[in-house]
Amino acid sequence: MHSSTEGAAARIARTTDPSPDRTEEQHMGVPKRRVSHARQGDRRSHLAISTPVLEECSHCHESKLPHRACPNCGYYDGRQVIELKQKTDESAT
Ligand SMILES: [Zn+2]
Repeated sequence: MHSSTEGAAARIARTTDPSPDRTEEQHMGVPKRRVSHARQGDRRSHLAISTPVLEECSHCHESKLPHRACPNCGYYDGRQVIELKQKTDESAT
């Protein structure tokens, strides 16, 4: 039995070793049937992206993601929870 660390090291050595005799035996999987347009659509039915849900920050009233600290003022639940990097002369102009 190999220990887990030995197995991981052997796996890394195997993947980084470019032995030419191993590549000949490997083949790509070839699909048996062409995927119909309907099945392709079924698969892609979960791929649509949606607009992010935004809510108004209770402190600075900028829009922010719900259940996240505000990226504009760093507040969450009525108190400052993250330190913000100082903006460099953006408001001065
Ligand atoms: Zn805010």
